[in-house]
Amino acid sequence: MTRSPVLLVHGGAWDIPADLLDAHEQGVFDALQEGWKLLESGGTALDAVQAAVTVLEDDPAFDAGRGSFLTRDSRVQLDALIMDGATLRAGGVACVERLRNPIQAARLVLDESSHVYFVGQGAEEFAQAHGLPLIDNAELVLDRERRRLAEAQARENAGTPDNTFSGRPPAEPPDSHDTVGAVALDQHGRLAAATSTGGTLNKDPGRVGDSSLIGCGCYADNASAAVSLTGWGEPIMKLVLGKWSTDRVLGGGSPEQVAPDAMAYLFRRLGGHGGIILLSPDGRYGMAHNTPRMAWGVHTADGPRTGTKL
Ligand code: ASP
Repeated sequence: MTRSPVLLVHGGAWDIPADLLDAHEQGVFDALQEGWKLLESGGTALDAVQAAVTVLEDDPAFDAGRGSFLTRDSRVQLDALIMDGATLRAGGVACVERLRNPIQAARLVLDESSHVYFVGQGAEEFAQAHGLPLIDNAELVLDRERRRLAEAQARENAGTPDNTFSGRPPAEPPDSHDTVGAVALDQHGRLAAATSTGGTLNKDPGRVGDSSLIGCGCYADNASAAVSLTGWGEPIMKLVLGKWSTDRVLGGGSPEQVAPDAMAYLFRRLGGHGGIILLSPDGRYGMAHNTPRMAWGVHTADGPRTGTKL
């Protein structure tokens, strides 16, 4: 039976300032276009989420690929995961510094390795051995991010409460969370999910957040649902919130209801903030955020829809 495909993307959940709203909405729109081209011509959900996330990584508006937040020592360190709901194959990379598109390295892990997860230099060498060029980390660093880091470190030195989610629970929703993700259902009824991030601003080198951890910031299983999350990574990973959400769909919850429930649970248990996109194999979907805004996009046979607040 041929299914009507569905593609959902997000570009982070936070208080996106007015002057950045257009760039965020354009970014999710562009990602939808690229992923949808594949889905409508019979392509796989896996290829579609990879294509959508690649567009978002290449867009400097987001905290993924070039333009990501900087570590405490002024470098870009990237994490990404991709998962095929039809086979449960998954590929992840973390703390990579010399790859332009970590989601492509993650896909190579999924396709070419019997392992699921590579970090640091080993991940870069694996990607290079499978055809991805290694670049200088400086190519991923923007002046905008040098300024953001300097401001965060000045706040830190002044003892001002850290509002960037680099470690401690914040009193307020985060300054900025621009992680990107996609979930898709293809014509063959297969689900897939992908999430990519530069992590949190001013993070310690070597820190890995939820985004690339299986079942935390990303998960896909045709028996339940596909999910991608964004937000303050430490609480999300402690709650294994991606798997928590897909399990609830498996247990009979609708994605429309489970998505806001997941955000409520994140806040209730650990005071966490973030956003979620969730898609079940029958094409129903849910999206939610407990931050002031989230860049989101949905493409169905009825066309694309985008926004920066639900
Ligand atoms: N969840 C990401 C992390 O903690 C950050 C984000 O979503 O913006 O690494």
